Amino acid sequence: MPVRDTFGLVPPWAEVGLYVLFAPFAVVFVVGLWRRLSWAGLRRIVTHSSGGIAAAIGRFGRFGLLQRRVAQRPRGWPHLGIFLGFLVLLAATTIVAIDWDITRPLGFRVLIGQRYLFFESFADAFGVVFVVGLLAALIWRLVRLRSTGPDQRRIQYQFLVLICGLLYLGLTGFVLEALRFIIHPVTWAGWSFVGVRLASLLSSAGVGPIAQTTYEALWWTHAFVAFSLIASLPYTTFLHSVAAPLNLMAQPGRPQKELSTPFDLRQLMETGEFDVKVGATSLSDLDSGLRFALQACTNCGRCDEVCPAMAMGTALSPRRLVQALRARLLAGLTSEDVLARNVVKHADLWACTTCAACVEACPVFIRPVDYIIPFRRQLVAGQQIDKRQTEFLANLSRSSNAYGLPAEQRNQLAAELRSAAGSSDE
Ligand code: SF4
Ligand code: SF4
Repeated sequence: MPVRDTFGLVPPWAEVGLYVLFAPFAVVFVVGLWRRLSWAGLRRIVTHSSGGIAAAIGRFGRFGLLQRRVAQRPRGWPHLGIFLGFLVLLAATTIVAIDWDITRPLGFRVLIGQRYLFFESFADAFGVVFVVGLLAALIWRLVRLRSTGPDQRRIQYQFLVLICGLLYLGLTGFVLEALRFIIHPVTWAGWSFVGVRLASLLSSAGVGPIAQTTYEALWWTHAFVAFSLIASLPYTTFLHSVAAPLNLMAQPGRPQKELSTPFDLRQLMETGEFDVKVGATSLSDLDSGLRFALQACTNCGRCDEVCPAMAMGTALSPRRLVQALRARLLAGLTSEDVLARNVVKHADLWACTTCAACVEACPVFIRPVDYIIPFRRQLVAGQQIDKRQTEFLANLSRSSNAYGLPAEQRNQLAAELRSAAGSSDE
């Protein structure tokens, strides 16, 4: 009868040794994750989530599990493969642990008979998806590294280490499976269609005599790398794997193009409480949901690609702005005056057209424009604006356009600009 023999090829003490080894890594992981998530007031985010729990789960399914925005472009497909492969393999490892440590002592096996054989094939299939996705991502990152500016190098290296770590887990997982078949041949090995082929390759390469030693060495390094990645999650860019799904679920109920407002006038009139803060100078002045969302940023650059201010050659980069604030948040500098310290540059704030294209592009529902408006309001409230910017604001409030033109002249100007653009194209 086919059955999973989880610790069958390692010494008897290895089972306890594995959990002893895991304990410190688990502590580092739990402490780090708690600190990160509690900083941003996770409970408040969940309770303020748009549309209730059903809508939150729906957003998680569409944009988290199915990665709808990520997979819109060909370069998003490797990420989809990695994500789905990772989820399935994580679930498979959990089932193996439950089968061995919980149900087996109770006299019931989950991984036995036909169930176990399907499990093996399923895990092999998603293992292939995982490894192929990682290889594609590794190539893309290495190519991109050459054109990466100094400000992005650190995060790119973190991604490369993460990809290499996951790739090591994927590949050693297959090699361990193959070595298992070499050491202990079974008639049902064909269900593990990758492992069995790799076993025959390794056997013909003469690995047989050292299969047991190799198996034990790989088994421990596989566990060590897996535990290291788990422990590093709250401290590295890997954090996005937890923060991004949570951010998708915690979306505020506001249309994508609607800008944030500093106060609700009706509420102020009702309460008579007019002592409100209009702008922001530090991260602690921002809403807790906005602070939390920073942690979900993957530095993908989709916001930069659609930003008209960036296309016009201004210094504004929504990605760089979000990343700069994220770095401040992770360093615990939530009270730092980011305007005075030039973390958020005045010129960048004025370059933004508030078009919200970045909001529509972000795959994890971050709203870069919401980090611009509160700081820009602060500049206005603190009168840190020059004559040109004063005119710009006066025009906007008077005529709803930056030039202060009446509606009919604005249409005429737009027509003239269109025809000028058309003739220059010719
Ligand atoms: S809202 Fe501002 S930052 Fe976002 S795309 Fe438009 S101009 Fe760029
Ligand atoms: S804000 Fe969103 S789109 Fe921009 S880099 Fe971060 S994850 Fe990507």
